[in-house]
Amino acid sequence: MDTLLRGGTIVTCDGEDRVIHGDVLVRGKQIVAVGAVAREGLVTPVRVVDASGCAIIPGLVQAHVHLCQVLMRGMADDLPLLEWLRRRVWPLEAAHDEASLRASAELGLAETMLGGTTTVLDMGTVRAHDAVMDACVRAGVRAVSGKAMMDRGDGVPAGLRESTRASLDESERLAADWSGKGDGRLGYAWAPRFVLSCSEQLVRGAVERARHRGEIVHTHAAEHPAERQVVRDELGDDDIAVLRRWGVSGPRAVLAHGVQLDTHDARGLARDGTRIVHCPSANLKLGSGIARIAELDGIGVQLALGADGAPCNNNLDAWTEIRHAALLAKIRTGVTALPARRVLRLATIDGARALGLDAIMGSVEVGKRADLVVVRLDGPHVEPGGDVFSRLVYACGARDVVHVLIDGEVVVRSREHQRLDVERVTATARAQARKLVARAGL
Ligand SMILES: [Zn+2]
Repeated sequence: MDTLLRGGTIVTCDGEDRVIHGDVLVRGKQIVAVGAVAREGLVTPVRVVDASGCAIIPGLVQAHVHLCQVLMRGMADDLPLLEWLRRRVWPLEAAHDEASLRASAELGLAETMLGGTTTVLDMGTVRAHDAVMDACVRAGVRAVSGKAMMDRGDGVPAGLRESTRASLDESERLAADWSGKGDGRLGYAWAPRFVLSCSEQLVRGAVERARHRGEIVHTHAAEHPAERQVVRDELGDDDIAVLRRWGVSGPRAVLAHGVQLDTHDARGLARDGTRIVHCPSANLKLGSGIARIAELDGIGVQLALGADGAPCNNNLDAWTEIRHAALLAKIRTGVTALPARRVLRLATIDGARALGLDAIMGSVEVGKRADLVVVRLDGPHVEPGGDVFSRLVYACGARDVVHVLIDGEVVVRSREHQRLDVERVTATARAQARKLVARAGL
């Protein structure tokens, strides 16, 4: 059955950033018409979705999240990065089992998808990552995800430490088992956690295998100033330079954060095509600093946005990241930096490009997959009018998302998730979070 999104303001995020008033016609997984669609010309039965008073935008892409950490929301506040990891996040991750991981992922997917996120790049924990992959398949999200790889590091609990060999083998096994699942919506990302938790051999092994399989390498870099000092003391250089020497660079390398980057680093990243994911809320909450996103953008670094994890944000709300990215650029760089139109592209087509998926999604264009979000523009906090980019970036939020399509399937309809029973998901998460804390002994 075709789906006709009828009578909206279509914010395409295409090459010309066109805004079109009209309809979007979806057949199967694809967008087949954008603009005025005459109903009489349609050959198959049509499901009409009223989009009047709404914007139709590309599905939002969050290029750095941790679905495995959603159960830890509210359990790790007011700590700097390394203490946050050692005292709270790692012990809790080490206590995960299959049931708690599934509950964590489902809660995170309910939150993100109801808010209009259609694609995530996710970093898992070390073990039992199948539960997260399976949750992604069942929820209908587009996801590139992989287990965290950790073969060394101070303060890493036994439950998270693995041998180099075992880490590479398990990642390879997961990639083989899950890549292409969910009707092609699932991809694998090799995820050495960060330089302090990975040996050179592990990172090089991940890069080599990812390259061989045509997959992404996803890690953290240049996040916190105190962490930068520890990295310099241990490895004699900044993590960006170390990772580059170990092969983590180029269009298939996605680095979360980049708060500590200077102009020299940025030029190198732009030359290599390495992706940086801006996670403004997490950077603020962990006291890491404010990334120079407008400067990086001007230098030509490929950027994307992400919420990072529930224990460091504490939401996985793409709209908050969009708003924070826009507002913080005004403080970091100047009030003319990163206008609304630019920020919306970071959350859509640029996110798609960061994951190498821009040929199939990230904009509202004929021939692309129908990953679409219908957003109300008529709430009292959004009216009475004005520039549509301004309204989306500065005034709208997750509460304004009404319908979400992924691969042409309506996964959220009238704010209701069509695949997840959100009440059950929430109740299960609550019970599993209690058990997780007990197992972690916190
Ligand atoms: Zn992260």
